[in-house]
Amino acid sequence: MEAKYRRVVLKLSGEALAGDQGFGINPAVVEEIAAQIKRVRDHGIDVAIVVGGGNIWRGLAGSAKGMDRTTADYMGMMATVMNALALQDALEKQDVDTRVQSAIEMRQVAEPYIRRRAIRHMEKGRVVIFGAGTGNPYFSTDTTAALRAAEIEADVILMAKKGTDGIYDSDPNKNPNAKRFETLAYIDILKRGLAVMDATATSLCMENKIPIVVFNIDEYANIARASFGEAIGTTVGGEAV
Ligand code: UDP
Repeated sequence: MEAKYRRVVLKLSGEALAGDQGFGINPAVVEEIAAQIKRVRDHGIDVAIVVGGGNIWRGLAGSAKGMDRTTADYMGMMATVMNALALQDALEKQDVDTRVQSAIEMRQVAEPYIRRRAIRHMEKGRVVIFGAGTGNPYFSTDTTAALRAAEIEADVILMAKKGTDGIYDSDPNKNPNAKRFETLAYIDILKRGLAVMDATATSLCMENKIPIVVFNIDEYANIARASFGEAIGTTVGGEAV
């Protein structure tokens, strides 16, 4: 099968690594995810992963309880590095070459983020895992995915979500008549205030014309299906079709 994409950014929320326990890291789940990533890499597709940290810590939750927001956000970024290392471990166990690049320098555990080096790794067949978000508080890992995708000239962002199979016009857990969009324009996410990703991430993708595929990760094979260009979930682009 002819691959549709040459280079993908896979955004894994922290929750995706937690499995049904909802918190922390479930090694069996990480292993399943890694196996799918291996399939994609074996297909010759360049893979960069941006991993979230919500399974361990979210800055907003900390600041809501009175913590300094910036400190709480740095804690969130640290959490993403823990997830990045778990993913690296699972991938390397399956003989996939990887590099973790951190936006916050921590030389003993990860390379610093260097764009050109990340691209070179992918050209050599390595999977690059981006940890520590953008390195800046007040941002999210969705925005990180948009930023890194633009920087490394990825063809698409594959946004793996837990518990939902795409973007709906209203919350499907509350409204039984909620409809899933097959395609959606970036601007409609902003106009309708859809809670799929934050406005910064959406507008960055819109400005740089980076398509986003939002899909359900509860079926692990979806990672490969989305990477191979199958129309699953919701595709966000310049305009809805
Ligand atoms: N974070 C940040 N700057 C970034 C990326 C992440 O401060 O560029 C912090 C923020 O506190 C966030 C936490 O890291 O809550 C975990 O990231 P995120 O909530 O995006 O993870 P996900 O929801 O994808 O698991």
